[in-house]
Amino acid sequence: MRMTVVALLVVLAALPIAAVPTADAPTGSGARALDVEKATDAYLAQLPAAQRQKTDRYFEGGYWIQLWGVLLTGAILIALLATGLSARMRDFAARRTRWKWLQSFIYAELFIVLLSILEAPFGTYTDFFREHQYGLSNQSFVAFMKERLLGLAIGMILGGLLITGILGVVRRFQRSWWMWAAVVMIVFEMLTIAIAPLFIAPLFNDYTELTDARVRDPILTLARQNGIPASHVFVVDESRQTTRISANVMGLFGTTRISLNDNLLRRCSLGEIEMVMAHEMGHYVLHHVPKGLTFIGLVIVMAFAFVQWAGSRSLAKVGERWRLGTLGDPATLPLLILFFVVAMFVATPLLNTITRVDEAEADIFGLNASRQPDAFATVALKLGEYRKLAPGKLEEMFFFDHPSGRSRIRMAMEWKREEMLRASSPAR
Ligand SMILES: [Zn+2]
Repeated sequence: MRMTVVALLVVLAALPIAAVPTADAPTGSGARALDVEKATDAYLAQLPAAQRQKTDRYFEGGYWIQLWGVLLTGAILIALLATGLSARMRDFAARRTRWKWLQSFIYAELFIVLLSILEAPFGTYTDFFREHQYGLSNQSFVAFMKERLLGLAIGMILGGLLITGILGVVRRFQRSWWMWAAVVMIVFEMLTIAIAPLFIAPLFNDYTELTDARVRDPILTLARQNGIPASHVFVVDESRQTTRISANVMGLFGTTRISLNDNLLRRCSLGEIEMVMAHEMGHYVLHHVPKGLTFIGLVIVMAFAFVQWAGSRSLAKVGERWRLGTLGDPATLPLLILFFVVAMFVATPLLNTITRVDEAEADIFGLNASRQPDAFATVALKLGEYRKLAPGKLEEMFFFDHPSGRSRIRMAMEWKREEMLRASSPAR
């Protein structure tokens, strides 16, 4: 374990960190170049100190929530095993049918329901009460609970299928299952992403076509300029769940679509909307969904290899006492998930970095496509309502899955500076 963490730190330390901008270079043209650092600080100073402290508290609390979440899940999984409840659930499933795959499925359904009940108090605090406490949601408790139940129902269908598939693979390939299980998981993930815009997202929100030509037409122009054959812009009514501004690109294999949420539409200028949509188009044009899946697939292979190693060792020690069969027996599922969760938790900085690098690419793409550095800076400030604006360098590397507000504003100011130099160049 310690080796894994150390190796990860070494890898991370070797990753390129955003270059610190140098002082203004002589331009030769006599034009005063923009002072990037000063311009960045001036933007940062626009967010009131009280708001900034509140955001920092909210965001830093999130680090602890991640840790407590893993500890809680770990405790529940160990309790399921050690109390013999997992073995009893397996026995129950085995009495219902002789088909192994159906036994796995029945066990998976019991497991998903039980886990979601036991984690409900924690999830309700983090996702409902805490969001309200920080003014990030107006959702009623009834609406929130309805969505949780809907989420559980979807989890029972998709999770039940995934668990059945993975347990089947573990039983079939006793030694090399970790590779095949990763394949199953990635294929499953791809299918889920592909059907999400059609069958999952509409269960939670309404997607309508943007009809206001003053906003829609510039977005469609941007899309066509960047080789995206789009004819519709979708608006999603996320104000139902949150006060955050956001947009996203969703789908795969021809179901891909970009949508903006109603908070963004209401609270942002046209320039800001264009910049955000250009960023989302960047994800699409740069193929971030398939690339991200590939990288995450590699992490999943390593995580399952760890599960195989740690799982078989644990079974040798406690398998008999807890009435567990070999790996692949449905009763061993909590053990498989326990080590998988640990592996993914250790890999969090790596996963965050994979995502953050893509986000920075989409930022650059968005700047070049929309050519609105100041709009990008003000959007970054608006995101500062829920994302810490100016973290330390290591903090950003470990905990941020998007560039921080300061990194984004600095990037925008660097772009602006170069653009000013270019415009004033005598060679033009
Ligand atoms: Zn993005």
